[in-house]
Amino acid sequence: MKYISTRGQSAASSFSEILLGGLAPDGGLYLPEQYPQFSDADLTAMRSMNYRELAFAILSRLVDNNDIPHTDLQAIIDKTYRADVYGYTRAGQSAEDITPTIKLEDNLYLLSLSNGPTLAFKDMAMQLLGNLFEYVLTKTGQTTNILGATSGDTGSAAEYAMRGKKGVRVFMLSPYQKMSRFQTAQMFSLQDDNIFNIAVKGVFDDAQDIVKAVSNDHTFKAQYKIGAVNSINWGRIAAQIVYYFKGYLAVTTSNDQKVSFSVPSGNFGNVCAGHIARMMGLPIAQLIVATNENDVLDEFFKTGVYAPRGAANTYQTSSPSMDISKASNFERFVYDLVGRDSARIRELWTAVDHGGKFDLNTEGYFDQVGDFGFVSGSSNHANRLQTIRATKEKYGVTIDTHTADGLKVALEKRDPNVPMLVLETALAAKFEDAIVEALGEVPERPASLEGLEDLPQKSTVLDANVDLIKSFIVANT
Ligand SMILES: *Cc1c(COP(=O)(O)O)cnc(C)c1O
Repeated sequence: MKYISTRGQSAASSFSEILLGGLAPDGGLYLPEQYPQFSDADLTAMRSMNYRELAFAILSRLVDNNDIPHTDLQAIIDKTYRADVYGYTRAGQSAEDITPTIKLEDNLYLLSLSNGPTLAFKDMAMQLLGNLFEYVLTKTGQTTNILGATSGDTGSAAEYAMRGKKGVRVFMLSPYQKMSRFQTAQMFSLQDDNIFNIAVKGVFDDAQDIVKAVSNDHTFKAQYKIGAVNSINWGRIAAQIVYYFKGYLAVTTSNDQKVSFSVPSGNFGNVCAGHIARMMGLPIAQLIVATNENDVLDEFFKTGVYAPRGAANTYQTSSPSMDISKASNFERFVYDLVGRDSARIRELWTAVDHGGKFDLNTEGYFDQVGDFGFVSGSSNHANRLQTIRATKEKYGVTIDTHTADGLKVALEKRDPNVPMLVLETALAAKFEDAIVEALGEVPERPASLEGLEDLPQKSTVLDANVDLIKSFIVANT
């Protein structure tokens, strides 16, 4: 399987060649040259597979045997998707399922994706990436210095995936004193030698700007082998495809049935994996894009106009991991929507990259959005609290704020005759303040994380200055 860029001007590359990078050299995003197809017989065979076998059945169609020998791929998958890595479970769930479901009522389920070490769905892909990075770097004798900016979830998932990995160092910038106490403790309590937490005096955008500035210094980037694990990384999307299959198989008994998914969305990475699963033949009815107050994606799916907003027009909400106004993976879907016309993508994103917008009504593309199953809706703070309360009262289940956005929109848009799986993208314990506001009680926390805030913490506080960050990297490599 070769990977091509949505902008059509980069050479086709193998999975391991694009694994360590982000954007293609032409500024586009990588996608498989064509999507592998899973037949009715394939789906039937999958019904008896565990998570590891299912992951291998799917990923082995996306990674060539002469790129990563499939026996090695199998070993990496087996090492990643273990019950002790994704070990948190609630009543009636088995950790062996890795992504167990919770039945709320007939045809309404949560798909638990947040039972990993940092209690958010990002662990599902990031843990695999950590093992793949170590494998590829060891094999080629290379090293990488991952540089990232985080407002909480991405940074912790990346650090827990990369800690102790050979050939990898992580330099993670976060806004000084602006993450939740839980998120800060999660990241700063890591004592591994290859993890460097840098608290930048400023806001998230200052940290993000520094990462961009360092990455745009091509000499520095090459000399210090600066890498990234942000949400456009193809390896992350690929790993996320697996649990759509797993969720489908968990709530159906025949391949004639369809299911729908509701996906709390920000950068469009998670729901993009659902789109690709559908393109590979998974019988999906609706793919619901659920946003919070930052509703740029809801606006597109309702009007056909994609108008990203700047940082100044991004609201801070109680589902903070979706506070995004430029969906970095959206280009992947639009590429398929416009019939994989890379010249068209270059035109559309020239406008976006210059702060503009585009309208897909003019060429009739927007009329086809429904053919891809997409439906959308948005949620706000009051909706979120109300949904958390109702879910607790009606089903006795405590959900987090992001999952609440997904459930709220799912209830509005679903066909009650079709099983609906709402993706649980984080556990409530991660966003304690909002849960206390909604329920008047502190959410349950996995036993392994009791007392997290009392552990010794390690971080370096620096001014928001590109040269200071570069010097810090130089001094620690
Ligand atoms: C990252 C994140 C999201 C958004 O996922 P995208 O792939 O960016 O759309 C939603 N919920 C939680 C809890 C997250 O951490």
